[in-house]
Amino acid sequence: MHHGIKKLLLLGAGHAHVHVLASLAQHRPADLDVTVLSPYDHQTYSGMTPGFVAGHYTAEESRIALEPLMKAAGARWIQGRCVGLDAEHRTVSVAGAGIDTPPLLNYDLLSIDTGATIDRARLEAEMPGAITHALNVRPIEGFVHLWPQVMELARDRAVSLAMIGAGAAGVELLFAAEQAIREQGRPGSRFTLITGGPEVVDNYPEGVRRRVLRQLKRRGITVLREACTGVAEGTVHLANGATLACDVPILAVGTHAPPWLQESGLALSDQGHVLVNVFQQSTSHPEVFAAGDVATRGDAPHPKSGVYAVRAGPALSTNLLAAHEGQALKPHPPPARTLNLLSCGTRHAIASYGPWHLEGGWAWHWKDRIDRGFITQYTLPA
Ligand SMILES: Cc1cc2nc3c(=O)[nH]c(=O)nc-3n(C[C@H](O)[C@H](O)[C@H](O)COP(=O)(O)OP(=O)(O)OC[C@H]3O[C@@H](n4cnc5c(N)ncnc54)[C@H](O)[C@@H]3O)c2cc1C
Repeated sequence: MHHGIKKLLLLGAGHAHVHVLASLAQHRPADLDVTVLSPYDHQTYSGMTPGFVAGHYTAEESRIALEPLMKAAGARWIQGRCVGLDAEHRTVSVAGAGIDTPPLLNYDLLSIDTGATIDRARLEAEMPGAITHALNVRPIEGFVHLWPQVMELARDRAVSLAMIGAGAAGVELLFAAEQAIREQGRPGSRFTLITGGPEVVDNYPEGVRRRVLRQLKRRGITVLREACTGVAEGTVHLANGATLACDVPILAVGTHAPPWLQESGLALSDQGHVLVNVFQQSTSHPEVFAAGDVATRGDAPHPKSGVYAVRAGPALSTNLLAAHEGQALKPHPPPARTLNLLSCGTRHAIASYGPWHLEGGWAWHWKDRIDRGFITQYTLPA
């Protein structure tokens, strides 16, 4: 890439971009103009969201304030979200919150870290009623905003809460919800996990699944190995024809690539994510980089989780500056395995690393320390 690139546009302030901002705060070339397009003045840290639901953290403790970070990085914040991308003309269309939000932004260098999304049209086709009647875990900011209403309801009367989706996020949130409602709500609430057919946490080793099932049983949480086919007012419909009466259906089902990538002209994976190489660089457009859940590594596909997004941050920072300066890019090997800490609502967690797994209060304290450390690392004084 030649010299003279001037405008760096960061889409989203996800796990990798907070690192990019922190390193720009250390060193920003004078000829680099940095803009961040992001809908909120904070980044909600999903790793601590189950702890927020359980009552271990406040909403403020589980997020990163972006304004001080952007200010230190010398970056301009445009509040809004990307709704279109034209990689050929190097422009991004913006749906904005403010009246002075420009509808179109152009860039010389683009980095995308907008995370996983729910394609509402697709979800509605697969699970009619879900958009209207269920509380969706994504976008996470919306979920965090609405959760106190569930607690208010549960303080008023016993509720029937169903978690639709048995991945790590669904399971952690369900444990957390059960813990909070048992402690603070009216007695008699009921909790159900709807797995969608496959096992609970089916991308985890057998031993972890057994531990999760044991915890579910201990809490009296019902597990239904059925797919949810639709959600109506007060009811969840299951594939076997049965219905479940439910006041609080929560949706933590698989996420999608953002629909606005489809017409972007960028090379995409089969699932529609930005296809990137060993440098986190688009395989079709060298001036475009991406990391986190929005991207797929063509050379080394790996699961989409926050840990990988965090680990890509330093390489992304280095490579954005190298691309700007016309220097050689640095390869980023994603970790072969990651430490996973699955919190169980109470101050208890299941730790796993490859085939190895253990659980206890110590694992929860470990997770707590890692999570708080992550937030602290990027929290600058206002
Ligand atoms: C409840 C829960 C718990 C989880 N716990 C863990 C865990 O313990 N460990 C783990 O590894 N993973 C965990 N995950 C998965 C993890 O959340 C994701 O893998 C991670 O958030 C991906 O990071 P990211 O940087 O790609 O995106 P995100 O963290 O989602 O950040 C994306 C940012 O972009 C913004 N944005 C979105 N769309 C646009 C747009 N169109 N334009 C501009 N900005 C936009 C968003 O507001 C957000 O600020 C959990 C997920 C959930 C739901």
